Amino acid sequence: MMVARYISDYIYVMYAGKIVETGKTEEVFENPLHPYTKLLLKSVPHLEPGAKLEPMSGEAPSLLNPPSGCRFNPRCPFAMDKCKVQEPPLVDVQGHKVACHLYDK
Ligand code: SF4
Repeated sequence: MMVARYISDYIYVMYAGKIVETGKTEEVFENPLHPYTKLLLKSVPHLEPGAKLEPMSGEAPSLLNPPSGCRFNPRCPFAMDKCKVQEPPLVDVQGHKVACHLYDK
């Protein structure tokens, strides 16, 4: 993640083959919106003394038989009923794009 931040101006965050968030790299790193992006950034190792890793719960999904609806729903702490049946569209939110029902209008 830190290498991507260093070398890119624009970034696409993908989960199980789907784009879940995209925008200017600094914007996404400074203001992540998708629950997966937020958890991904928390799981990046830090060099400060006493810093702890926050591993993501759950298992990576099967790409042969991915979860229906939002593919992140089995691991998402904010999953709602519709997340299991309806794939969220990629929409403009706060200067970048995110695919998550938390941002439905
Ligand atoms: S659409 Fe639902 S399951 Fe997917 S990331 Fe958003 S809240 Fe979580």
